[in-house]
Amino acid sequence: MSTTTTDLMQDEVKALARERGAVILAHNYQVPEIQDVADYVGDSLGLSREAAATDAEAIVFCGVHFMAETAAILSPEKTVLIPDLDAGCSLAASITAEQLREWKAANPGAVVVSYVNTTAEVKAETDYCCTSGNARGVIEAIPADKEILFLPDMYLGIWLERVTGRKLNIWLGECHVHAGIRPADIERWQADAPDAELLVHPECGCASQCMAFGNGRTHILSTEGMIDFAKSSPKQRFLVATETGILHRLSKEAPRKRFEAVSERAICKFMKMITLEKLRDSLRDWKHVVTVEPEVAERARGAIERMVAIS
Ligand code: SF4
Repeated sequence: MSTTTTDLMQDEVKALARERGAVILAHNYQVPEIQDVADYVGDSLGLSREAAATDAEAIVFCGVHFMAETAAILSPEKTVLIPDLDAGCSLAASITAEQLREWKAANPGAVVVSYVNTTAEVKAETDYCCTSGNARGVIEAIPADKEILFLPDMYLGIWLERVTGRKLNIWLGECHVHAGIRPADIERWQADAPDAELLVHPECGCASQCMAFGNGRTHILSTEGMIDFAKSSPKQRFLVATETGILHRLSKEAPRKRFEAVSERAICKFMKMITLEKLRDSLRDWKHVVTVEPEVAERARGAIERMVAIS
């Protein structure tokens, strides 16, 4: 097999990471060539756990900014780099710390549960962080008589209300990528691929409607949950309702099975800002270092550690 430019750059990235004592962490939505060069690929929860546990001197975070911030909070003694500082998140941008303080003031005594897709300043105002992988466990761990403010993703909030039976006070934020996957996309596939299992991320605009299908082949799962499910299922064909980057990992982990995107438009432009070239430059030029004010990090750490502890 001939050596391609991508192979050469991946070799350069690996050599630089070794030389500089850096571990490369990549989110499931990253482009394939980044996933393939990473030391660890996973969802927000897995990446947070990995960032907390690694003994590498530095972490290069191939994901979006709030994820690199979370790594910096969990590992304050390490250098955390992100290859592109503009890799943001529309969901994290849907609530500011000031808005959360006002919401808390209007609901004294309520417990604040924030999805991990939030800025460090918002986490600092939070009691519990969660990811889609453990959100249900986090809600169930809070005493039943406590009022809960859940933010920022309304679709995940609605789904949580249905699976836990708890009434939540939900912030009306959304991820434009997941919200763009509509019930019509699902219905078209349900008709076209009756043999397929449907894997739906709870952030999707269609997630709570999908629960109503009750047909035994619709599964609401985090990205990591999708991978575990596809690997262990005896079924061969899967329709996937989340950001399309996950298809690469699914195909690698379950190579003999067939995976298709419910919506080809479900692409996060922020996740795709990280390229091999930028990753190489990040390691070579030691940029861009992500830091969090110690006072903010201190207050945010408790909420993140509670998230990492609940599975
Ligand atoms: S897919 Fe949505 S939630 Fe995830 S990083 Fe992109 S904008 Fe944020």
